[in-house]
Amino acid sequence: MGLTLFKNVLVFDGTGSDPFPGEVSVQGNRVQSVAKGKDQIPTDGATVVDGGGATIMPGLCEAHGHISYNDCAKLSEIGDIPPEEHTLLTAYNAKLLLGMGFTSVYSAASSKPRLEVAVRDEINSGRIPGPRFKAASPEIVSTGGLGDERQYHMHHESVGMIADGPDEIRKLVRLMVRERVDTIKINISGDNFTETCRAEMLSYTDEEVGAAAEVAHSRGVWLACHARSDDSVRLALKHNFRVIYHADFITNETIDMVEAKKDEIFLAPAVGAIYATAYEASEWGITPEIADKVMDLPRKLEHTERVYREMRKRGVRVLPGGDYGFAWTPMGTNSRDLEHFVKMFGYTPAEVLMAATKWGGEIMGMGDELGLLKTGYLADMIMIDGDPVKDITLFQNKDNILMVMKDGEYFVEPRPGRAKVHQKAA
Ligand SMILES: [Zn+2]
Repeated sequence: MGLTLFKNVLVFDGTGSDPFPGEVSVQGNRVQSVAKGKDQIPTDGATVVDGGGATIMPGLCEAHGHISYNDCAKLSEIGDIPPEEHTLLTAYNAKLLLGMGFTSVYSAASSKPRLEVAVRDEINSGRIPGPRFKAASPEIVSTGGLGDERQYHMHHESVGMIADGPDEIRKLVRLMVRERVDTIKINISGDNFTETCRAEMLSYTDEEVGAAAEVAHSRGVWLACHARSDDSVRLALKHNFRVIYHADFITNETIDMVEAKKDEIFLAPAVGAIYATAYEASEWGITPEIADKVMDLPRKLEHTERVYREMRKRGVRVLPGGDYGFAWTPMGTNSRDLEHFVKMFGYTPAEVLMAATKWGGEIMGMGDELGLLKTGYLADMIMIDGDPVKDITLFQNKDNILMVMKDGEYFVEPRPGRAKVHQKAA
């Protein structure tokens, strides 16, 4: 885009500082300048956008995306979607998230090997709209682990890809590298959604996790894991995983080990799905009693809260987002995680917004040019009706998202009324 100047806006620059009244200009696909106060950036030759007092900020990052989920009540339903329909659904979800202000998505697993790779490449070609996107492998799981939806004598497709033993795992990771995923996802622990491999059980041995790490590190792809139990997080740390999801049941000693590697790793609790499954899924048969007595979720939430209050104090890069795309956490409602961080983990709104923007750029591997409103940074920006530092729930209502820009191009044009676009200023 040509030179565009956003005036009359509150600027949240992504560093975690409070928003300030100011101006932002964009030239091409980069932020040209950010200024405090009024009439600081010359309007000559610029298209001026009057923000009407709205907040302009870097786009959000969903750090644990599953854009091939279909708002199902059971994980097994996802395996039954044919590839053609599934690809279109995945593309639809990518567009949906962009419209909700997520200009970046780091995937926490695809549901079929090539779904996300294909959608990522189409987004990058410019043929379909979507966030910047890091495509993942399906969850690599052991037989009977989280994501193994198969059953003897029956034919069910699974969302996971099953591999047992170091050799099978090596082959599968190599296969996923060949198909050009950005990140490998492996389920080191189980989950309470899986009767045969619960959250505090290991689904893989040290040797098996080491085999995945050996291939991923030697081929230069990123590694992420589902790891709820203490020993699963220890394995992830030992084998130099870059992204650790959940880490609910870890001890203080393991928190110390995470802190010692805090410049190398990212965490995301993906707490939204657990919270909603515990308290808001009765309509789908998960009454609070089942969530407690069968799934043990309230206890899990207590652990999550303890761990992430501590992580916050220690400055570990913990990012919001995760596991949206179930019936009770429908795709597009992902920004509710921002509220969970504030209410459950004690983050200030500015802190969680910094995690979703600055650290979002870092988890995308683009921290030197993405996630801040700063001269030279990529123009991935949104405009919000109101001040999100005063009300972190604003992102949950699409009507409040007044503008979405990715790579200097509007996906949502600045909304008239609150943000008036004037052509070439005199
Ligand atoms: Zn997940």
